[in-house]
Amino acid sequence: MADGLLKTVDIHKSFVGVQALKGVSLSLNPGEIHCLAGENGSGKSTLIKIISGVYSPTKGHLEINGKKYGKFSPIEAIANGIQVIYQDFSVFPNLTVMENLALNSELADRHRFVNWKRMRKIAEESLAKINFSIDLDAYVSTLTVAEKQMIAISRALMFNTKLIIMDEPTTALTRLEVKQLFNIILKLKEQGIAILFVSHKLNEVFEISEFFTILRNGSVVASGETKDLDSKKFSFYMTGREFEEK
Ligand code: ADP
Ligand code: MG
Repeated sequence: MADGLLKTVDIHKSFVGVQALKGVSLSLNPGEIHCLAGENGSGKSTLIKIISGVYSPTKGHLEINGKKYGKFSPIEAIANGIQVIYQDFSVFPNLTVMENLALNSELADRHRFVNWKRMRKIAEESLAKINFSIDLDAYVSTLTVAEKQMIAISRALMFNTKLIIMDEPTTALTRLEVKQLFNIILKLKEQGIAILFVSHKLNEVFEISEFFTILRNGSVVASGETKDLDSKKFSFYMTGREFEEK
């Protein structure tokens, strides 16, 4: 196999009084759906902040397409096609869909003025990539949670995106909306985009991921192909406790 899209190599991260990550290594290939699982406080969000350049690792490094990065900025992450969709989707409710889509990409382009005609075209293309249709002039405050998430995904796709990281994306979704999100994830996969899906829900890991990494107290306790995982093993890796038969 080639160098892969992304590798985290022996990533450590300490905060004052807390060792949040203790040597985390994982790798991701293009078009791969990889689930990062772990209970609350296991280090999932810290790891994605390192991958997206928000935090620098205390020790360890990233490799993107075979190139090694010690320190890594959010701008470099975006330039390397890495996009994160946070739990709150980082959308601006008092702006329209179009304005939300325009904001991010114009900032990244460092253009001074928004070329609305050009933006509208780019926005329409990015919505089409996930077969999502919405009134570009609607205010985001009027949309459902799932629609806001679609806006965040469309916005992520306005860049030359290679990897989309979704931090616990299903928290506020209905079962039907989760299904729709999973369909979109599969569509992104078809386009060669890798997905790092952060979740602590067993059924979601089994349903959508091909590969998994489970963190516990900042360390990788298990990783591999999801087809080799079962619910007993999953709950043991997550908690460190044997599953008790009732
Ligand atoms: P998860 O996303 O899996 O719930 P986090 O990565 O948010 O876990 O947190 C891992 C550990 O690091 C927790 O003990 C948390 O309290 C701690 N932590 C996370 N961010 C910070 C920070 N900025 N400052 C201090 N401690 C932090
Ligand atoms: Mg988290």
